[in-house]
Amino acid sequence: MIYDRYGRPLKSMRISITQKCNLDCIYCHREGVFEKTYKEMTPEEIQRITRICVQNGIKKVKITGGEPLVRADVCEIVERISSIEGVEDVSMTTNGVLLEKLAEDLKNSGLDRINISLDTLRPETFKWITRGGDLEKVVRGVDKAVEAGLRPVKLNMVVMKGVNDDEIEQMVKEYSREEVVIQLIELVDTDKAFFAKYFYDLDDIERDLQKKAKNVVIRRFMQGRRKYILNGSRVEVIKPMHNSEFCAHCTRIRITADGKFKPCLMRSDNTIDFLTPARNGATDEELNQLFLKAVENRAPYFKKKI
Ligand code: SAM
Repeated sequence: MIYDRYGRPLKSMRISITQKCNLDCIYCHREGVFEKTYKEMTPEEIQRITRICVQNGIKKVKITGGEPLVRADVCEIVERISSIEGVEDVSMTTNGVLLEKLAEDLKNSGLDRINISLDTLRPETFKWITRGGDLEKVVRGVDKAVEAGLRPVKLNMVVMKGVNDDEIEQMVKEYSREEVVIQLIELVDTDKAFFAKYFYDLDDIERDLQKKAKNVVIRRFMQGRRKYILNGSRVEVIKPMHNSEFCAHCTRIRITADGKFKPCLMRSDNTIDFLTPARNGATDEELNQLFLKAVENRAPYFKKKI
C-alpha cells in the first residue's frame, strides 16, 4: 500500500476510457477535463497502466468516461482490467443508454458493480437535463443490470433545486429493491451561475433520512459516507463540494482518457502524462516513477479550517 504526503492510502483508481458521450448533461463536470481530446488509450495500454497502479496496492478500479459504453471494445477493456492479479473490484459509471444490450456481457467480462446516472423519472425533465436523452432506455438498462447480477446497482441522482429536488421520495420508493442503492449527489460546481441557480444542499434530506432509517452504515473509508437503510431502500448521500472530510478520506487517483494521471477532480494543473512516454518506449519502471510522482502531487482540495 502506498500513502500520499497527507497520509491518505491509495486504494482506488477512476479511469476514463473515452471523452465521447451519447448524452450532453447540462451539469456535467467531465471528470474535471474540459479541453477536448480525441486521443484514447488502447485496451492494452489501459491494462498496462492499471497493472502498474495495482502493483502499488490499488485494488478497486472504476471505469468512466465520457460514456464508457460508446466504446465498441468496452467488454475487452473490462476483461483486461478484471484479469489483472490483485484487482478485487471492477465497477463502471454509465448513463445507461446502451446498457440494456451490454449488461450481461459486461458481467461476463468481469464487471462487479455498476453506477447508472438517473436524475429523474420524468421523461421531459430527463430530456432537458441530458439535452435529448430517452429515459425509457435507461430504465430498461437498470432492470437489465439487476437481472445480469451486477451488485449493487447504484443509481446516481444529482439533485438540483427546482429541477428534481421534489423527486427524491419517488425515486426511493420506485427503486426500493435489495439490489439497488440510490446515491443522492450534491452538485459539483463547474459553472458559477449554474451552480448558484441549481445547487441543492442535501443536509436537510440527510437529517430526515437519519430519522427514518432502520439502520445506518457508516463507511469510514468511503469519505465517511453513510448508507441509510429504510423500508426496503438503500440511500447514500454524497457531498463533495466544500467538504474537507470528503478530501481527507479520498483514496483515489484518476486517469484521463488521453493517458494522464490526475490527482484531483478539481485541479488540472498537476496532471502527469504517461501515455506519451509509454508510446515512446518507456519501461514499466519508468511508468511506475510517473505514478509515484502523481501520488506526490496529491493534496486535499478542500482543506480543514483550523
Ligand atoms: N457518462 C457516465 C455516467 O453518466 O455515469 C460517466 C461519466 S459522468 C461524468 C460520471 C458521474 O458524474 C455521473 O454519475 C454524473 O451524474 C456525475 N456528475 C457529472 N457532473 C456532475 C456535477 N457537476 N456534480 C455532481 N455530479 C456530477
